[in-house]
Amino acid sequence: MTHNNRRTFMLKVIAAGAALGAARAHAQAAGPKVEETDPQAVALGYKQDSATVDGKKYPKHEAAQRCSNCQLFQGKAADAAGACPLFAGKQVAAAGWCSAWAKKAG
Ligand code: SF4
Repeated sequence: MTHNNRRTFMLKVIAAGAALGAARAHAQAAGPKVEETDPQAVALGYKQDSATVDGKKYPKHEAAQRCSNCQLFQGKAADAAGACPLFAGKQVAAAGWCSAWAKKAG
């Protein structure tokens, strides 16, 4: 392989890597759902179903509080799941809840 050929080859490898990275970033736009065993989920007391939250551990939790009516939920009202900045690259359940819940304005 001549010097120039090697350089072209390396540029192709880099370009292919960048394309793959972009495709991966796009795939993560929806993201996998947050598991309750995820360390961040454990730290925040996240549950995929707000009804299963331990009221003794989280006395401020109310049955009507869910990710879908939380200020931080980035999905639409009708979505089953959506992004939350506290779980970057993942999706929280619309019916879920965590201790950072804050009432959606309006
Ligand atoms: Fe759900 Fe809000 Fe907690 Fe995010 S911050 S996981 S949207 S309750």
